Amino acid sequence: MAIIWGFVALFFALIVLSPFISAMLFLALNPFNAIKDFIKVNRLHKVNSAVHHDFFTRTFPYYNLLNADEQETFIRRVNLILSKKAFHGQSGVEITDDIKLLFAGTLVKLTFGLFNYELSWHGTIIFFPSLFVFGKNSQSMKGLTFFSDKIVFSLPDFLHGIKDPHDKLDLALHECAHALKANHVRDINHLFDNESRVSVFYDSGSLFEQRFILWYNVALSEYQIMKDNENQEHFFRGYAATNMDEFWAVCIEHFFEAPVEFRDKHPKLYQHTASLLNQDTAVRASLLSPQAFY
Ligand SMILES: [Zn+2]
Repeated sequence: MAIIWGFVALFFALIVLSPFISAMLFLALNPFNAIKDFIKVNRLHKVNSAVHHDFFTRTFPYYNLLNADEQETFIRRVNLILSKKAFHGQSGVEITDDIKLLFAGTLVKLTFGLFNYELSWHGTIIFFPSLFVFGKNSQSMKGLTFFSDKIVFSLPDFLHGIKDPHDKLDLALHECAHALKANHVRDINHLFDNESRVSVFYDSGSLFEQRFILWYNVALSEYQIMKDNENQEHFFRGYAATNMDEFWAVCIEHFFEAPVEFRDKHPKLYQHTASLLNQDTAVRASLLSPQAFY
């Protein structure tokens, strides 16, 4: 009988103490990083928000389409990204505040409708003074996104892409799109493979991943049309037909740079892209569910 009462007492003690145990575990596993980040970003925000507002008003048409509350969120997110990413210049490139802001602004624009917006897998952003070769790959490149950790740019091509917001070419957006997929979606071939080596890293079955699968199915048929009609002109540039990863990145460039034309020519693919990113670029830069970032 004493044993039973002992178990009952233990059971009630666990129920009463469980919030404290959880809190202790939380603090033990997250040694004030969240609080430190919050203070750091708040300080950055107070110092920089007016300067950054002025910068994006001049350089980002997207920013001017946001209302005041959304602009506040935009600048806060930019400040958080600036505090978390490391920027490196190679072969004499000097990293200026403008370069950092253009990268952070592009990333915030792409992920503005998402809750997980910072692409935490990619903490290092590298700029070369021109086309570059990297590692064993001997091919000259304008941009390169690693599976995790690094995004690499040729600086002139990075700047050229941002300069004209409507020419359907934006290297920064293109590489950030690759990074977004790497952060949120498993290799499509492994989506349903529980044995997959990479599955442990992902939030399997997340809303983003579910919507990515819907996007993928629609995009795949458009990709096949491009492949089957290589000599015919398509709304997307020919590079999109390289593979599905490039189709995704080019699709994102068009979504932001020519949204109305995109919606008119490929309404189904446009709607799936808008749903996936939770923002509708053809109807100003409005969020589809402003109160429910996911
Ligand atoms: Zn690419």
